[in-house]
Amino acid sequence: MQKEPWYRDGLRFGCKQCGGCCGGEPGYVWVTDEEIAAMAKELGFSKFEFENAFVRLIRGKKKSLIERSNGDCVLFDEKTRGCSVYKSRPVQCRTWPFWDQNIDRPSSWEKTAKFCRGCNNPDGKLYTLEEIEEERGKKF
Ligand code: SF4
Ligand code: SF4
Repeated sequence: MQKEPWYRDGLRFGCKQCGGCCGGEPGYVWVTDEEIAAMAKELGFSKFEFENAFVRLIRGKKKSLIERSNGDCVLFDEKTRGCSVYKSRPVQCRTWPFWDQNIDRPSSWEKTAKFCRGCNNPDGKLYTLEEIEEERGKKF
């Protein structure tokens, strides 16, 4: 019988809108062609214009959003401290913080919570085991 994960009673999360996960250490925000089309539409760009302005090709094949020199995602709005394509943000952003590496063990979750104040936020939503597994299942 498969052992239940350590977060079987759920995890609490409620974004504090600090913008921390949209910047910081260098990294990648992977985007598919469908996501690019949706974000372009939200901003009123053609797919071609959007890709030219905001997307980079990594190792000649995978597409990622461009990072600014300070590490912020190119789509992070510094004035509102939020995402400028929030409604159509990529799966990678939607599924944060329920990524495998953040919840594989309690210490990973606590480490994530040090960086993201939305984790363990007492005012946040209690995500059930099923909801967490659903988020984890969305690949990017
Ligand atoms: S780091 Fe956490 S609290 Fe801050 S914007 Fe990202 S999800 Fe929200
Ligand atoms: S697409 Fe939006 S949510 Fe995702 S990293 Fe960029 S600014 Fe943040």
